[in-house]
Amino acid sequence: MSSMRGVLLPGDSTVAPVTREVPEPGHGQVLLAMKASSICGSDIRAIYREHLGHGPEAYQGVIAGHEPCGQVVAVGPGCRRLTEGDRVVVYHISGCGVCDQCRRGYLIGCTDPSRAAYGWQRDGGHADFLLAEEVTCLPLPDSLSYVDGALVSCGFGTAYEALLRLDVSGRDTLLVTGLGPVGLAAAMLARAMGVASVVGTDVSGERLALAAELGVVDEAVEAGDAAGERLDEVSGGRGFSAALDASGNAAARHLALSRTGTWGRCAFVGEGGDVGFDVSQLMIHKQVTLHGSWVTSVGHMADLLGHLHRWQLHPSATVTDTFSLEEAADAYRLADRGTAGKVVITFP
Ligand SMILES: [Zn+2]
Ligand SMILES: [Zn+2]
Repeated sequence: MSSMRGVLLPGDSTVAPVTREVPEPGHGQVLLAMKASSICGSDIRAIYREHLGHGPEAYQGVIAGHEPCGQVVAVGPGCRRLTEGDRVVVYHISGCGVCDQCRRGYLIGCTDPSRAAYGWQRDGGHADFLLAEEVTCLPLPDSLSYVDGALVSCGFGTAYEALLRLDVSGRDTLLVTGLGPVGLAAAMLARAMGVASVVGTDVSGERLALAAELGVVDEAVEAGDAAGERLDEVSGGRGFSAALDASGNAAARHLALSRTGTWGRCAFVGEGGDVGFDVSQLMIHKQVTLHGSWVTSVGHMADLLGHLHRWQLHPSATVTDTFSLEEAADAYRLADRGTAGKVVITFP
């Protein structure tokens, strides 16, 4: 093995195949044979359509794909845990390891210049092989597939973190605005965490149908002028004790916050854009707690992998379309439409 195939995203809604040398693992690094590499909403928003390019979202022309899952095929010097043959999920950011955020396991929040996200500032998972830091690799339980693992590496981890922030339990009713992959993940995990009733909204009929078909929501409500009224009916006018926006859309964020009940908690997870709202009416007078939640920690991701194993829950249920690396252009075109469930590139 000397050369490998990979995919770059030039930023004009195209995909550019490249051939690269297979890297050799340095100190503390492992080489992974890629098995599954899923496409994320942020790949579409900040890289595929155009390079939005700020700070942690600045795409550096590397091999794309920040949701990698694979098998260790070579171990560099100084690795302490992984050996050849191990199946691993890659937490998708490598941090400096010594700042406050890294020490808390939130490598996502590292601001050191050495911080690099796979698929953004260092080569990612849309290639035959991936060079990964051992500290960013988490063992994949045998009961989970590589596709399950890829989905945990970003989307399911992000959804789980927001649910932890909301501290959901069997006492809660949950509203999820935006039923793309992260919204679906949130609904699925919330159910497993005991939430009694989950209601979701989306503008896409296909996504509403998928959420209903997967059984992760009790009701899928079409976003639009009538959505608020329907949510009031469903919640008996009391709103939901917890709400999570996974869309990043201003109207959906407003809907999530406005239907958060008194003393409720709301989390904004969907990225980009902005929102305006009546602070007294929607937050202060309702005693609402509003959270921002960005990705997750390495520790919480490891916890989630264990929970999924015990719950016998498979994130891959949210996958609607699977492509090979040669078909990456088709995969991105489909993901860009915003109507599919999760889109994944898999490897033999
Ligand atoms: Zn992602
Ligand atoms: Zn750091």
